[in-house]
Amino acid sequence: MKKVLITGAAGFLGSHLSERFLKDGFHVFGMDNFITGSKKNIELLSSFEHFEFIKCDVSKHIDFKGDLDYILHFASPASPIDYLKIPIQTLKVGSLGTHNLLGLAKAKKAVILVASTSEVYGDPLVHPQVESYFGNVNPIGPRGVYDEAKRFQEAITMAYHRFHNLNTKIVRIFNTYGPRMRLNDGRVLPAFIGQALRGEDITIFGDGKQTRSFCYVDDLVDGIVKLLFSNYNYPINVGNPDEITINEFAQEILTLTGTNQKIVYKPLPENDPLKRRPDISLALKKLNWKPSVDRKVGLRKTYDYFCTLNREELFEKDHQSFEKFNKL
Ligand code: UDP
Repeated sequence: MKKVLITGAAGFLGSHLSERFLKDGFHVFGMDNFITGSKKNIELLSSFEHFEFIKCDVSKHIDFKGDLDYILHFASPASPIDYLKIPIQTLKVGSLGTHNLLGLAKAKKAVILVASTSEVYGDPLVHPQVESYFGNVNPIGPRGVYDEAKRFQEAITMAYHRFHNLNTKIVRIFNTYGPRMRLNDGRVLPAFIGQALRGEDITIFGDGKQTRSFCYVDDLVDGIVKLLFSNYNYPINVGNPDEITINEFAQEILTLTGTNQKIVYKPLPENDPLKRRPDISLALKKLNWKPSVDRKVGLRKTYDYFCTLNREELFEKDHQSFEKFNKL
């Protein structure tokens, strides 16, 4: 049985990936420190015989006994409001955490895949974003802690590949949605659905003309699995190129939830990218991958999930007390 270590297993993507590998017959070690992840996801994964949970802050030393075939590094705060609240941890998990996991991969002779992001392109001046574009990132802006940590992550991963001949993979993930997103993580889809379910105003930041391209989580997981087993070692975009404005997206959510909330406009956060759409020709060519879930179908599945949450979860404002983590 092949063994895979997945960091961030209590998070949205980490839990979906863990489930996929368990269903595909792997032994999965899930790591998390619960800084943004949810215990509920670990409970769900624990129902599989071949799942083992290890509580660990990967930014510190990782002590792992036994063999490993694959490592997937998905631990990181990933929502703009999270990395504003825990900036130092965001920088550490992308840099020190990645370094530790590359060291572990080298020691175990494991293949390692790291989760990068469309944020490496910053507020892009090239549209759609192609892998050869170097990006337009403000290193000292509020998003800099995430963007620069992920850019460093790509750099150190390529260095381990070139210098140590490590078999590394880098996926640049674009906006992804689906069941198990945290309702209060601040991202646009859970924000709008949460507001609709609670009967609150829908908050659009800026004029709502900024665009995003949303990929359903099952499609993303498929792309990641294909990349892991490919022989491609350079960064590759995985996302859905179906681009819409945030105004259009708000209307889609209102139609989906059957509500007619008032839309209110708030100031656009600093350095919020105006456009985002992946060019996925490389993924098609190298991995024979493209997304297949239509947004209408994906949004329905996601909404059905959010409808299963209880009142307490629906009104929970702050997921965690980040205070104690900021002291670390
Ligand atoms: N956004 C919004 N209202 C909200 C939350 C987000 O208008 O309540 C906007 C946000 O300013 C951005 C887009 O939706 O332009 C996507 O934001 P998200 O936080 O989901 O992710 P990003 O793609 O910016 O990392």
